[in-house]
Amino acid sequence: MSKPVVAIVGRPNVGKSTLFNVLAGERISIVKDTPGVTRDRIYAEVSWLDHEFTLIDTGGIEPDSKDIILSQMREQAQIAIDTADVIIFITDVRQGLVDADSKVADMLRRSGKPVVLAVNKVDSFDKFMPDVYEFYNLGIGDPLPVSAASRLGLGDMLDAVVSYFPEHGGEEEEDDRPRIAIVGKPNVGKSSIINKLLGEQRVIVSDVAGTTRDAIDTEVVHNGKEYVFIDTAGLRRKNKIKEELERYSIIRTVTAVERADVVLMVIDAVEGVTEQDAKIAGIAHERGKGIIIVVNKWDAVEKNDRTMREYEAEVRRVLSYMPYAEILFVSALTGQRLVKLFDRIDMVIENQTMRVATGVLNEIMAEAVAMQQPPSDKGKRLKLFYITQVAVKPPTFVIFVNDRELMHFSYTRYLENKIREAFGFRGTSLKFLIRERK
Ligand code: GDP
Ligand code: GDP
Repeated sequence: MSKPVVAIVGRPNVGKSTLFNVLAGERISIVKDTPGVTRDRIYAEVSWLDHEFTLIDTGGIEPDSKDIILSQMREQAQIAIDTADVIIFITDVRQGLVDADSKVADMLRRSGKPVVLAVNKVDSFDKFMPDVYEFYNLGIGDPLPVSAASRLGLGDMLDAVVSYFPEHGGEEEEDDRPRIAIVGKPNVGKSSIINKLLGEQRVIVSDVAGTTRDAIDTEVVHNGKEYVFIDTAGLRRKNKIKEELERYSIIRTVTAVERADVVLMVIDAVEGVTEQDAKIAGIAHERGKGIIIVVNKWDAVEKNDRTMREYEAEVRRVLSYMPYAEILFVSALTGQRLVKLFDRIDMVIENQTMRVATGVLNEIMAEAVAMQQPPSDKGKRLKLFYITQVAVKPPTFVIFVNDRELMHFSYTRYLENKIREAFGFRGTSLKFLIRERK
């Protein structure tokens, strides 16, 4: 179910952001009621023909001196190698082949990752084509002429990109072990949680195929069942400027979340829930993943009989766009309640894959409509004809109505609450698609 990740790598000014913006179009995934979710164009959902993928722009801030360009490019290339399924390496026909291109091409070739070589700014094929051939010297395959600005050659480039995606039903699908991403700010206790789970469960630790240098997949066995934990803790790097570090940690989080069924959003109980937490949690929310908020370091909080309730209320207030999220108070230090994580994970996965029969859904909708009249506008009243569940992970419903404009967000919320009252669906978001039927 997880979408392939495609990363764009290239020198400054070759056209990375231009290409990213053209491919992302208006399809940037932003859930309107998710506050604090980054509006930076670092990642976007793209579809091409019947393929969907997550596109990542690894290019960060402009380097201020020539000699750090290469080291920055290496850093970018490494992050792409670590996180992406396919890499678009973009060069500039007008600047021609430069030394930094060759060095990065060597690195990409050695990684064995599929690379699509795009030569940008070929605004006219007649004029620039001869210069494109020079890029064969990079030794990473056929250079594809494109013009991001004039949208030329992009179809051929995307065909090349999707040709590397695993076939449906390929090897990736066979692995049905639950995959859990542990995300959160630095120092909230992500590694400690994994280590404690490993220590207490007397588990097998193994390198899972496809693991990357920084996001380490760890297998944990609990009650005879295997779970794969995806840890993003390793992304702490020295000597990094703040903006760059943040960009990279967002890329790590997005790609880890993309591969996961359930996301453990770890919060530091001592520090309390912050805007940065809301931003990170938003990434999982946008993607419709199962979510468990893990409030860690609970041992270090002074408590009375109201503390947990009050704390939960505060977390729910800051993360108000995901009221469905499960919440658990744990301590990686003492191990308190950590073992409960497994039951919660199982439950959330069950809810993510639950299917409700159409007949039952329509009964619930009819009852809901009878209890609260649908909204109307300018004398026209919303009519709801039919509801059916069309997908899981997250559970997705289509509602057929007479006029989409009349379907207010608040009425959809109301129906969602009715469905949740009946079936729970705890830990998972629900998606509603509104279609018109005249
Ligand atoms: P980045 O630093 O790699 O992200 O590069 P940008 O996307 O910011 O582009 C750098 C410059 O190249 C900008 O002035 C763009 O307008 C220009 N540019 C990008 N794509 C093309 C193209 O296809 N043709 C031409 N002629 N210019 C382009
Ligand atoms: P990460 O960056 O999110 O992986 O965080 P770490 O696992 O490296 O933990 C950061 C710091 O918090 C370390 O000093 C840990 O010892 C401490 N820590 C982690 N979990 C707990 C906990 O449950 N209670 C307390 N008191 N400290 C913890």
